[in-house]
Amino acid sequence: MQPCVKTVRPPWQGRAIIWLLVVPALAFSCALQPPDERVEEAVTGPKLVVLGTAQDGGFPHAACACVRCEAARLDPSVARLITSIALVDDSAAHRVLVDAGPDIRAQLEILQSAHRERPDRVDRSPVDGVMLTHAHLGHYTGLAFFGFEAVHTTDLPVWCSAPMADYLRGNGPWSQLVRIGNILLQEIEPFKPFEPLPGIEVTAVPVPHRDEYADTFGFLIKGARSTVFYAPDTDSWDHWPRPVTELLEKVDVAILDATFYSADELPGRRAEEIGHPLIAVTMDLLQPLVDSGRLQVWFTHMNHSNPVLGPDPAARNEVERRGFHIAEDGLEFPL
Ligand SMILES: [Zn+2]
Ligand SMILES: [Zn+2]
Repeated sequence: MQPCVKTVRPPWQGRAIIWLLVVPALAFSCALQPPDERVEEAVTGPKLVVLGTAQDGGFPHAACACVRCEAARLDPSVARLITSIALVDDSAAHRVLVDAGPDIRAQLEILQSAHRERPDRVDRSPVDGVMLTHAHLGHYTGLAFFGFEAVHTTDLPVWCSAPMADYLRGNGPWSQLVRIGNILLQEIEPFKPFEPLPGIEVTAVPVPHRDEYADTFGFLIKGARSTVFYAPDTDSWDHWPRPVTELLEKVDVAILDATFYSADELPGRRAEEIGHPLIAVTMDLLQPLVDSGRLQVWFTHMNHSNPVLGPDPAARNEVERRGFHIAEDGLEFPL
């Protein structure tokens, strides 16, 4: 049975596209359709919502006037928010943010307007918790908005590693959020499953990455309908202590770091010096799993230099020709 990909136009953003992935476990099937033929339909039940797909500097990238960034400035439908996802169960009225980056204001707006089927949702509790991958600009600095000057939450659970919790406790302005009870740190151990929302089991997987302030996690997210592995930021795959393919053999969907397509984007740097797996390398590594039909791979965390962002469609076409996908803001996956 083929997965079915569908699109809808979300109410909060007229020109944006949501791509809805319906896994084979659902009670109907359809062939993979080209985007312009996709049917408008919302994913029901627990789901993973993609809230952003750009590298930490954003797209358009801060203060950049390259051809891609200028195009994204001229046409906001091309722009992307900084990488983040949410785990959402509207029927049970739960929403958990995964990473809180500099675009958090827009991302909370999206969650508020598109997923507001919670009658008891009160002001000042926009989400039920936050899971953090690591302490880099694009992944945790939005936590500041839960503080006194903005949302001013009360005991908002923040799931993170012990080193990340130590870093937040020990350094302002994050320490103030802890001290006055805006956030409640929930330390999670690697490989020990927890349930940030009912029925969704999450397992933190240590990820090799530049760990200046704390360490880095990827998250294995398991629902009744599918298992997703989310790792928006990692060093190259050969830095992993065990082959990532072992882990990916057990998942249905992988949403992975695609900061750079190839070393051509970084003149003067050798491929092995680049602290991210290149898209071209990831495709070579995961092609057998993708070809077997057991795994879907969606790329995220694209740097503004990445040619999959255009304007030449060649790189994106190559990704799609090989059976991989470029994630879009608004994409939803059933869990
Ligand atoms: Zn990042
Ligand atoms: Zn990072």
